[in-house]
Amino acid sequence: MHHDVIVLGAGLAGLAAARDLAAGGADVLVLEARDRVGGRVEQATLPDGRLVQLGGEVVGRAHTAYLALAAELGLTLVPSYVAEPGVIARATPEGVSAGDPPHWFGPGDDACHRRVTGAFATLARTVDPDDPWSHPDAPALDEVSVAGWLRAEGASPGVVRLWEIGQLALASGSYERTSLLSALRKHAAVPGGDRAAAGGHSSDPVEHYDYEDWEGLRIAEGSAAVALRMADELGARIRLGAPVEAVDVRLAGCSVHLFGGERLTADAVVSALPVGPLRSVAVTGVSDRRLASLHRQRQAVAAKFAAAYDKPFWRESGHNGLSECEGVLGSTWPQSEGVLSALVPPERYGVLLSTPEERRERELLAEIARLYGDDAHRPLRCWVRMWGTDPWTQGYVTQWTPGDVMAVGPLHGTHEPPFYVCGSDQWVAGYMEGAVRTGRGAAREALRRG
Ligand SMILES: Cc1cc2nc3c(=O)[nH]c(=O)nc-3n(C[C@H](O)[C@H](O)[C@H](O)COP(=O)(O)OP(=O)(O)OC[C@H]3O[C@@H](n4cnc5c(N)ncnc54)[C@H](O)[C@@H]3O)c2cc1C
Repeated sequence: MHHDVIVLGAGLAGLAAARDLAAGGADVLVLEARDRVGGRVEQATLPDGRLVQLGGEVVGRAHTAYLALAAELGLTLVPSYVAEPGVIARATPEGVSAGDPPHWFGPGDDACHRRVTGAFATLARTVDPDDPWSHPDAPALDEVSVAGWLRAEGASPGVVRLWEIGQLALASGSYERTSLLSALRKHAAVPGGDRAAAGGHSSDPVEHYDYEDWEGLRIAEGSAAVALRMADELGARIRLGAPVEAVDVRLAGCSVHLFGGERLTADAVVSALPVGPLRSVAVTGVSDRRLASLHRQRQAVAAKFAAAYDKPFWRESGHNGLSECEGVLGSTWPQSEGVLSALVPPERYGVLLSTPEERRERELLAEIARLYGDDAHRPLRCWVRMWGTDPWTQGYVTQWTPGDVMAVGPLHGTHEPPFYVCGSDQWVAGYMEGAVRTGRGAAREALRRG
């Protein structure tokens, strides 16, 4: 069977690409390994009708491509947990505290935190997020870790710990193993976080990660609805249960081989696969440089834990449900009324993996009880979703360890027609915004080239 374009993967990127290709008049087919669409966005429904997001969940006001798509699909954006009243909790082996400053902060730590955050924001303004390789000090900035840079800037151990607990709360890799250049690039891509440094309202705190810009909104119909609505529009153009084994790219025509031996052909191929599974697909007819760049990318592995309760009991103790933790869990936050989300970061994923399955839920609930009290032990239902070892994901969000930005190089996020590449890994830092932005970008480019 021949098509104009075959899209590999029915996550947000592949679906967004296919939708625009179809709208542009292309005969498009999407091949998806799983028996559902959405990839890293997936939702479950409680008997009382509440939706529970098991993957990608929140977006921010800076996520313009995602917000535009949501509007086209007629979906509703509402404030996320960021608007929840109450204070953050922090749990470390030596204690649990509520609100700021964190319990390990000593005299001078707060001023030190502000100083290094300002220095980070200033340095980020020298990085072009679309071309970080053009920075005169790019190799040096890429070689150093964020934590190493903090120490070189004179950050106290307490401040380094605050940055690290925040990073593991996001379940990205440790700042000890994160390229400074990649972190500056991420900040430069969404620069609202340095409003105060740039002369914004003087009471705005300068932060190196602005929660409103990155996480202030969610889709009321559930973030998985973005994928489901696109899939409804695409209908029979999507083939589920069709894992791709090999792709041969030729100007005269491309062929795509499925596990089981079936062969399909197309004028062009759009790969919307995560970087892990892509490594297992045999791709021929594409330059060695491009394959080396694609194969050099990596993801932070993470697990998501969701616990649904009859009510948001954490409010009774003045908490907002948001926490940063040094247990197996890296963080918790309320995803909707009575439903708590939590992430297990890469550094602790192995601990969860080695825990017998029947004990995982109980042990994670005990960590939540340490934060918010014994009601945590009585959920209506829980889900442990091991994304890091899911064969069709093998990760969570993009991770850049020192040296990776330079090694992946300027081919990142570019195409080699008739082979087009998209997916959240092809943007600065992953995320649903990256998936939609690069998916639509790949479709635009393919349509432009006819
Ligand atoms: C637990 C978790 C929480 C997250 N939270 C957020 C959040 O709050 N906000 C945010 O913006 N982002 C979040 N993200 C990230 C976000 O969900 C992803 O970056 C985004 O959804 C990725 O979309 P994608 O289309 O690039 O890739 P994917 O969604 O991974 O889609 C790729 C598709 O390719 C398929 N596939 C893989 N291999 C093959 C093959 N060989 N043949 C055919 N098909 C194949 C997969 O099954 C999948 O459907 C989170 C991710 C996870 C896992």
